[in-house]
Amino acid sequence: MRTARVGLRLTPGQRERCFGLLASAGDVWACVLDMNRWRRQRGLPAVASYQALCRELSAAGPGTFGELDTKGARSVLRRYSDAWFAAAKRRKDGDASARFPRRKRRLVPVRYYHGIFTLEDQRLRLPAGRGWPPLRVRLDRQVPYPIEQVRSVTLLNEGRRLFVEVTAEVPVATYEPGTEPDPDRVAGVDPGVIHPFAVAGPDKEGLIVSGRAIRTETHLHLKDGKYRRRTMAARAPKPGQVGSRRWRKFRARQRKLEARHKRRVRQAQHEAAKTVIGWAVQRRIGTLVIGDPRGVLGLNAGRRHNKRVRDWRVGYLLRCLKDKAEQAGIRVVLVDERGTSSTCPSCDRRVPKPTGRRFTCMHCGFSGHRDLVGGANIARRGPGGTITTKNPFPVVITHRRAGRHLPGTGPARRDPRRRPHHGTVKRSNGRPRPAPPPWGVARPKRGSTNTAKTTNVG
Ligand SMILES: [Zn+2]
Repeated sequence: MRTARVGLRLTPGQRERCFGLLASAGDVWACVLDMNRWRRQRGLPAVASYQALCRELSAAGPGTFGELDTKGARSVLRRYSDAWFAAAKRRKDGDASARFPRRKRRLVPVRYYHGIFTLEDQRLRLPAGRGWPPLRVRLDRQVPYPIEQVRSVTLLNEGRRLFVEVTAEVPVATYEPGTEPDPDRVAGVDPGVIHPFAVAGPDKEGLIVSGRAIRTETHLHLKDGKYRRRTMAARAPKPGQVGSRRWRKFRARQRKLEARHKRRVRQAQHEAAKTVIGWAVQRRIGTLVIGDPRGVLGLNAGRRHNKRVRDWRVGYLLRCLKDKAEQAGIRVVLVDERGTSSTCPSCDRRVPKPTGRRFTCMHCGFSGHRDLVGGANIARRGPGGTITTKNPFPVVITHRRAGRHLPGTGPARRDPRRRPHHGTVKRSNGRPRPAPPPWGVARPKRGSTNTAKTTNVG
């Protein structure tokens, strides 16, 4: 299953109807929450199964939720039911922090499954409730999947922007004989904050994807947000007050910027994952062993590092990579990455974790890129921590940069496809200037009078 997000081209009327649908979905969501709270207060069990919720919906009768039709309302019930059972399962497994859905939201995404909507070319037709004409909207680009593979569309908003998420069942990629990924060729992937992925492959080849652009984006966003909040703090409404128009504008702007930031980071993470998969397919790598750092992320490491870890969004990053690998026909193995960046790949002895990017072994004198050391060690870990294969440490390293679309980013400095740096390119000499004054003569001050100029020439 693959999902792509597509923007919408809407008239003001269509826009209003779309937001109406999302608001109605929010009403459905709030009704379910209210119903279950009411039941809990009376000691009754919660209604959580999809079928039972659907019965409650049909008891409410048609037309309760504005323009939203039954199918759309049921998708909200499905969302609630899935969230409820996921929380129940986590609680049963001993995670006391897992909570059942409890927060009301004004706008909730609506999903339409195959057969309910029609999608042709760039036009999408969504059903509306009884007595309403169907909603026809235009997409701002072609859906990147063949139409017959599309399984569902989800209408959602981010701030004031509307999107549809198109989910399609895309078959696994096929290859010409002799070029398909070979499961015996293993590459280890070390996910990191500075380099989202460092991959150590067979044949002494490695790939490093730089994520500095993502970190810069995160940093600038944080700084900008801080400044905005500080200037507006005095205008925040008191409890029970309605915010001023200016405050509401500020809030809208804030939401817009948050949404943009999220989109930028996600796009960059997808780019990083795509780079890795493209690289792996080219080298016929059939197994990616990925180091999973999530075991150690719960530890408190101070506010700065905690923030860094949260901004990393490693769950999403790994999900991107896994999805794309499965699509390309590459097997994915997740292993615990503990200790992989502090073990020497050459002599297997523990070395204190390096502070910089360079790993040096004090026992055998081995030296290499720290993240690739992690990747090489991960490649050797099979499921359950067993040492399986031994790839030689990469010598040929490919450098790529994620987040090329972010402001102020270009190709990686070590990318040979990069055009020459502007400082080293031969340029014109510019306008002719007088020769500098001979040694010992005072240089005229900038913007001084003509007399100074004449002495200079003389
Ligand atoms: Zn060593």
